[in-house]
Amino acid sequence: MRLIHRHLLAAILVAAAGGAVTAQTRGGRYAGPTGAIPPAAIAAPAGGPVWSGESGASGDPRMTAAAIREGAVNFRGCLERLWPLAARRGISRNVYAAYTAPLTPDLRIMDLLDRQPEFTKSFWDYLDLLVNDARIEQGRVLLERYRETFDAVERAYGVDRYVIAAIWGVETNYGTLGGDRPVVRSTATLACIGRRQNYFREEFLSALEILQHGDVKSDRLVGSWAGAFSPTQFMPTAFKRFAVDFDRDGRRDVVDSIPDVIASTANNLKKDGWITGQTWGYEVVVPATFNFLLAGHARSMPIRGWERYGLTRPGNKPFPRPDERAFLLIPAGVQGPGFLMLENFRAIMRYNPAEAYALAIGHLTDRLRGAPPFAQNWPRYERVLSHGERLELQQLLERHGYDVGEPDGHLGARTRSAIRDFQTRLGRVPDGFASACILDQLRAP
Ligand code: CA
Repeated sequence: MRLIHRHLLAAILVAAAGGAVTAQTRGGRYAGPTGAIPPAAIAAPAGGPVWSGESGASGDPRMTAAAIREGAVNFRGCLERLWPLAARRGISRNVYAAYTAPLTPDLRIMDLLDRQPEFTKSFWDYLDLLVNDARIEQGRVLLERYRETFDAVERAYGVDRYVIAAIWGVETNYGTLGGDRPVVRSTATLACIGRRQNYFREEFLSALEILQHGDVKSDRLVGSWAGAFSPTQFMPTAFKRFAVDFDRDGRRDVVDSIPDVIASTANNLKKDGWITGQTWGYEVVVPATFNFLLAGHARSMPIRGWERYGLTRPGNKPFPRPDERAFLLIPAGVQGPGFLMLENFRAIMRYNPAEAYALAIGHLTDRLRGAPPFAQNWPRYERVLSHGERLELQQLLERHGYDVGEPDGHLGARTRSAIRDFQTRLGRVPDGFASACILDQLRAP
């Protein structure tokens, strides 16, 4: 799902800073201005328990239990106030009434919006979960079964079939874990209650447009709690931008038409900047003496420049095109692997703005093509910090005079940079990794 833009957003994204998968800014898919959305394949199951009745963990006043109850009481009035906006988009009164009259808010979503324990996973646990033998095998079966469709889509869009299959696998385990919450209900709830109302108002109205046009059958417009639907998890607004009618039956059916699913996903990646014939990036060996301050999304240079800093591929395999520009990602510090990321990695992050997500997509893409697992080990002995510990880490960094922005427990580029500065002051390798050891050192008087 594209989270913040496409998918939704859960306020948390999987961004991998500091070894934990945490939120990050994104621009695209599902979630809005900040945050990515967890792939449905590892998100909380639909149904299940009702709303906890507790205030949310975000600290946002719109997420207190009292504010949520008040929003629920005013839900019908909110939907009535949205009607003129729907009318302006060509949604008929009959359609609006038919889909909103039976609605009640799904308050359980309020818990999910503010608490996503699965996003405190380490990079390696996240990859293990999403890139494994079962998912590789199933992906190969689908690549064979839909070979002709993939052939046609590659010709039409120039997007690698393996990355499309990888998105299909990571987002919903190939359509088997896409969620069964009605999209209209989820987006209506979030448009009227909670801290992302502006973002979800657009999603709610776009969902109604889909029903008005008849692209997806109403009982099939179901998905994640954030409102992403389809095997590759389109948010309603992303559907409007990217969905195509590849089988030419007059409907852009990204739920039940596999040609429409595959082509729409390819069209999305293409419009997000996918470069035909290029891969996403390379695993690299980073020398212990490397200047870790060069890592990060902001510093891009030709691969041959990185080679001069001593970066190599495992086994000293050559880089096919050393003139390509790349940035260096070192998600787990000096003890873990490095990655040189090309433009297509950024395109994947536009699909869902989280480093761990994009790396899982890239790795599954390679594995589906027949490549081996990553050669280097992850620091599996490192304990991943809890949300409370990450918040404390940021507060301690701030107390030590480092700028981490507003402490929120989500470790992003600023926190990583502050950790590097702190490590430098201690005379340690400044890899920016938020380890339990760093937290202990910050706690020391
Ligand atoms: Ca179609």
